[in-house]
Amino acid sequence: MLIDSHCHINSDELRPDARAVIMRAMDADVRRMVIVGCDYEDSCEAAAMAGDFPQYGLYASVGIHPHEARRYPDIPPEFSRIIQNKRVVAIGETGLDYHYDHSPRDVQKRMFELHLKFAEDNNMPVILHIRDAMNDAMEILTVHRGVKMLFHCYSGGLEYLNEVIGMGGMCAFGGAITWDGKNSEELREVVRRIPAGNILCETDSPYMTPSPFRGKRNEPSYVRYVYEAIAHERSISLQELAGIVEGNARRFFGWE
Ligand SMILES: [Zn+2]
Ligand SMILES: [Zn+2]
Repeated sequence: MLIDSHCHINSDELRPDARAVIMRAMDADVRRMVIVGCDYEDSCEAAAMAGDFPQYGLYASVGIHPHEARRYPDIPPEFSRIIQNKRVVAIGETGLDYHYDHSPRDVQKRMFELHLKFAEDNNMPVILHIRDAMNDAMEILTVHRGVKMLFHCYSGGLEYLNEVIGMGGMCAFGGAITWDGKNSEELREVVRRIPAGNILCETDSPYMTPSPFRGKRNEPSYVRYVYEAIAHERSISLQELAGIVEGNARRFFGWE
């Protein structure tokens, strides 16, 4: 079984043919997918989709992306009701994005802390989006180290790896692991060194498309290419990696 721990089937790009996308994922043995919300509407859509197709192993995460933080004074109060849905398994994506700075940094930080508090209060794991902001993010996360964290699209390099692992953080790797270039080379070094118990795989589809499809729309079935690249770097079989990642995901999301 393969698992895509981060996809946006609820996005404008994938929603119109969600059913076909999900069927292709099934054919590729992707048996669990976590649909991640980026704002209020998006989170509602993620939860609804997960509820509509439970037979295909769909789950949801609800949150306000740091890009959207400026649009919200607080966590939407409806989230308390939405997380009662059994298919909603995490809070996020939340975090800090200083690469784009679509929301002012103090606003991002405030929303990030509200999410961590919300996750703590409801005993749920968080899906983190952190870009060019590891320093500030770690400062905030240290205060909330009891929360189970998943560093989506992990980009902290070797520099932050020990600290992240020390906090029990999961690192999810996506299409970038298959690309050429210096950043991807550093990512492969991280993948070779990280303990097996901290690895997850994701697509972040429709974005971050792996080679050989880079430039086209990404979808959960392509998570197979991420698995293949990681298995190759660690010199283990795809089956062995699949078993490891499945165990990690079950532990993290609380799946039986
Ligand atoms: Zn993200
Ligand atoms: Zn995402």
